[in-house]
Amino acid sequence: MPDWLIGLFAFALGASFGSFANVCIYRLPRRLSLIVPRSHCPVCGETLGLVDLVPLLSYLWLGARCRFCKWVISPRYFLVEAACGTLFFLSYKSHGFTTTSAITALSCLSLLILGVVDGQFHLVPTEPVWALFGIGLLRRLLEANPAWGLVDGLLGTLIAGSVIYLVGVIGTKIFKKEAMGWGDVEISAAVAIQFGASKMLLAYFILSVFLGALVALPIIIRLRSVRGTMPLGVALAGASILLLLYPEPVSQAVLRIYHLD
Ligand SMILES: [Zn+2]
Repeated sequence: MPDWLIGLFAFALGASFGSFANVCIYRLPRRLSLIVPRSHCPVCGETLGLVDLVPLLSYLWLGARCRFCKWVISPRYFLVEAACGTLFFLSYKSHGFTTTSAITALSCLSLLILGVVDGQFHLVPTEPVWALFGIGLLRRLLEANPAWGLVDGLLGTLIAGSVIYLVGVIGTKIFKKEAMGWGDVEISAAVAIQFGASKMLLAYFILSVFLGALVALPIIIRLRSVRGTMPLGVALAGASILLLLYPEPVSQAVLRIYHLD
């Protein structure tokens, strides 16, 4: 099969998973079941048919409106499907037609859900965290030396969870407000099983600080002071996705800045 066709298939598959991501993003923060009821319009309640549920295309040919009540559908639905398609495509381009590619794509899916939910609702749902951890665990067990892979991975989980927890405790003392939520500890611990106790983990911390500053900047400028919890899960998810897609180039580029490579 030609490379471009597999790439296109990866994108289409990713966009379909993006539809599922949209269901998770809508239902998980509202504590609704992912299975029942079937997909329906949140305004008029009509059950959606096949014509409404084709990833990306339905949004375009329905003119971004509900077919029944003409409610304007948020562009987030389209953007999440496009992002998910792109992440699956990049996973394939980076890791080829391999198990690592599939694991990277599914990890990115979990992280995308976590990032969007944290950005929009300022909370971290547990289900995608466990999915992320489970996918990482599987990756470790499929290694040539699973026992060592497991030890290394769980060490990464322990270190990442502890570091983010301690940063949160110290930050809370300094800023006299919650600096990092428990959700941030969960995301870091879950993804770090794939990084292990390696330089990749160090790169993850540094990259998260960079992206965290980017996430915080508009909030600080707009509100002058930071109130409530900052959606740092967005930064942690972003750093994780970059490192999972391009482990070597990204970690080397980040560590070189501090002469740690
Ligand atoms: Zn409707």
